Amino acid sequence: MDNLLDYSYEELENLVVQMGEKKFRTTQLYTALQNYKNETEITNLPKSFLQNLRQKYEFCPLQIYQKYESRDGTIKYIYKLNDGNIIEGVLMSYKYGNTICVSTQVGCRMGCKFCASTLGGLVRNLSAGEILAQVLCVNKDLGGLYNDRKITNIVLMGSGEPLDNYDNVVKFLRLVSSEKGINISQRNISLSTCGLVDKIDLLAQEDLQITLTISLHAPNDYIRKPTMPIANKYSIKELISATKRYFNKTKRRVVFEYTLINNVNDTFECADELSNLLKGMSCHVNLIPLNEVKERDLKATTRKRAYAFMDRLNSKNISATVRRTMGEDIEGACGQLRAKILKENKV
Ligand code: SAH
Repeated sequence: MDNLLDYSYEELENLVVQMGEKKFRTTQLYTALQNYKNETEITNLPKSFLQNLRQKYEFCPLQIYQKYESRDGTIKYIYKLNDGNIIEGVLMSYKYGNTICVSTQVGCRMGCKFCASTLGGLVRNLSAGEILAQVLCVNKDLGGLYNDRKITNIVLMGSGEPLDNYDNVVKFLRLVSSEKGINISQRNISLSTCGLVDKIDLLAQEDLQITLTISLHAPNDYIRKPTMPIANKYSIKELISATKRYFNKTKRRVVFEYTLINNVNDTFECADELSNLLKGMSCHVNLIPLNEVKERDLKATTRKRAYAFMDRLNSKNISATVRRTMGEDIEGACGQLRAKILKENKV
C-alpha cells in the first residue's frame, strides 16, 4: 500500500484533486502529515475523505517501538515498520541543535567487517516516506511541529547504504528540505557512503547542497579490502577521483570517516599514507575510535593513540578531529541494538 509521506506537495495535490476534493485540502493534509498525524488525529478534514484515503493509503509508516536514553542525553530509537520489520535511529544533542541519525535500509548488503548493520544482510530498501517518517516521528516525540523544528541536522548514518537505495534517498533529501514541509536545510544534512563510485557521480548532478561523507577507513586497498568488500569493486584511487569530481561540481567540502581499528589502520605509517592521499583536497577527516561489535573480533584504538593519529594528520595540514563517542551505554553504534533485539527474539 502506498504511503502518503512518499508524496511531495505537488503529487499530493494531484491526488487530492483526483479524489474529487478541493485543492485547498492539500495544505491541511500535508501539514497534518508533516506533523506525523494519523487519520484519527486529523480533525480539520472531512471524515469521508479521510476514510477514502485510509482505504488506499498508509498515513504513518512506522511507530516508535522502544526508546533508550543514554546518560549523555543521546536517545536511541527502535522503530517498527508497518510490515513488522524494525530499524533503529539515534538522536544526539549538541550545543547548536539536535542531530538525528536515520536508516535508509532494513539491514545492509555491503558487508563491512566492523559494522553490525550488515550482520543479517539486506532485508529491503526503505521508501522515501519511511526515511522521512523517522525525522517527523522523532520531531513529534520531542514536542516539535513541522514549523517549530526540534531537529536541526540529519546524518544518513544509520543502517543501510544510502547510495544502494539511490532513488528513494534522493527523493527523501528533496522531501525533507522542501520549503512546504519540515524544511531542514540541505547544508545540515550529511550523506555517508562506503563508496559507490558510479552513484557518487550521479549524486553530483542532483544539484543538492548536502555534505558527502566517505567511509574510507584505510589509506590503501591492501588494508581496505579485508574490512570493506566494496573495495574489491572500486579502488581507493577511483574513489578519491570520484570525490574530487563531486567537489568540483558541488563546491561542497567532503568529509572522510576513518574508524580507527587497533593494529589494522592506526599506525603513523597509515596516517602519513592518508595525508599523501588527501593532500590538496578540500576535506576534513573524522576519526572514530571503533565501537566494538560483540560478533566481531576487531578492537578499538585507544583514545590516546587516536589523538596521536589526529596530530600527525594535522601536522601535515590535513584537517582532522576525533569524534566524541556518544551513547555507548545504549549500544549507539550502527545496527548493534537491532542485532541484539533480533537475536533475543523480542520482535
Ligand atoms: N553505509 C554508510 C552509512 C552507514 S554507517 C557508510 O558506510 O558510510 C555510518 C558510519 O559508521 C560509517 O562510516 C561506518 O563505516 C561507521 N561504522 C560502522 N560500524 C562502526 C563501528 N562498529 N564503529 C565505528 N564506526 C562504525
